[in-house]
Amino acid sequence: MGKRRGKSGKKWGHFKAGGRSKPVECVYCGKLVPRVKAVPVRRGFRIGKQVPGVDRRRVLVSTRKEYACISCAKHRRMI
Ligand SMILES: [Zn+2]
Repeated sequence: MGKRRGKSGKKWGHFKAGGRSKPVECVYCGKLVPRVKAVPVRRGFRIGKQVPGVDRRRVLVSTRKEYACISCAKHRRMI
């Protein structure tokens, strides 16, 4: 669990630099965690009441996918 700062272009070859494991920000503490270690949080901005005329897909669109770091997730008993 090293806290390394800066972007040294050289990696150990475990992960490809600039791959899909982009760091994500924890919604609770704001810490940047690698996405593989982040816990997805579903935060729905659901339109609670069913509004006539509103496409249901819009409800899905308004759901944001966010991430929490493991410690916050544990703290909140999400994992
Ligand atoms: Zn956190």
